[in-house]
Amino acid sequence: MEKELKEISQDIRKEIALCKDIDDFWLLHKKYLSKEGRLSILFQSLKKLSTDKRASLGSEANRIKKELTDLIKTKEIKVDQSSNLDDYFDPTLPGKKPAIGHIHPLTKSINRAKMIFEGMGFSTIEGPELEDEWHNFDALNFPKDHPAREMQDTLFIKQKNREKLLEKERLVMRTHTSPVQIRYMLTHKPPFRIIVPGRVFRNEATDASHEVNFYQIEGLMIDKDISVANFKAIMENFWQSFYGKKVKIRLRPSFFPFTEPSFEVDMSCTSCKGRGCSVCSKTGWLEVMGAGMVHPNVLKNSGVDPKKWQGFAFGMGWDRIVMMKYSIDDVRLFYGGDLRFLKQF
Ligand SMILES: [Zn+2]
Repeated sequence: MEKELKEISQDIRKEIALCKDIDDFWLLHKKYLSKEGRLSILFQSLKKLSTDKRASLGSEANRIKKELTDLIKTKEIKVDQSSNLDDYFDPTLPGKKPAIGHIHPLTKSINRAKMIFEGMGFSTIEGPELEDEWHNFDALNFPKDHPAREMQDTLFIKQKNREKLLEKERLVMRTHTSPVQIRYMLTHKPPFRIIVPGRVFRNEATDASHEVNFYQIEGLMIDKDISVANFKAIMENFWQSFYGKKVKIRLRPSFFPFTEPSFEVDMSCTSCKGRGCSVCSKTGWLEVMGAGMVHPNVLKNSGVDPKKWQGFAFGMGWDRIVMMKYSIDDVRLFYGGDLRFLKQF
């Protein structure tokens, strides 16, 4: 019995050294000092001893029990204090600023454009980036031999027996957002007033002003009595809201397969107010978009009667617009993922 008392005492001291936190001490206490603990069981067996032996061993056992209880308590307090020190929290210290995400300048400015157009009654529509040749070219009145259909400009998707497939089965990465107009007109009834922001793809070598993919914003307005004057008014309103400055719009004749008449749209230079500077190559004007009155063939292909309905469509290379707005000189910066660049916006 004396031997066992000694053993318990040694075991507890060994285990105290291994205790790391309050939970460890709690387990230790349970193992030795609780009702079911080793020391309590020993106390119970004392009853079986003779009166003399019980007295001497009993007082020794009590002494050891008190000593061990005190030792556990002291060590426990020490561990508790030091662990508290690690968790010490000073609520008066200034907080760490969490690094939060950031909206890309292209997305941010597209959102701004959407807001302006939506204020003029336009809805924002999206469509697939993987398109078929019919929606991307044929429906938009591109002749079969149009240069845009050549390998140099378009990213065609590899397909088995491609030459045997129909135009609607031959896949391309869309070269412009215009096929979304066709998809929308085929599934809705006029009048239409939509814009289509989205990514488009070209088979091009990249440099400071060319990327294999970039953003376009496309627009379409079809009603019974829409004219070029309506187009001019809407565009003037858009550019003034977008730049927050008074601007003038000028139209120059141009050619696109999907519009007739077609024009290039220039906006008075916002840097020099039309006097001429390096931004506008001393002309006082910036080319901002292509546009025109929707070609009757395009309306017909989309199930819209050109004798009843007419209107305009426009498209702008959005990356270039954002580059002009913030004086960015390399389009590749948008897609490089360099946070030093992106954090400026
Ligand atoms: Zn200028």
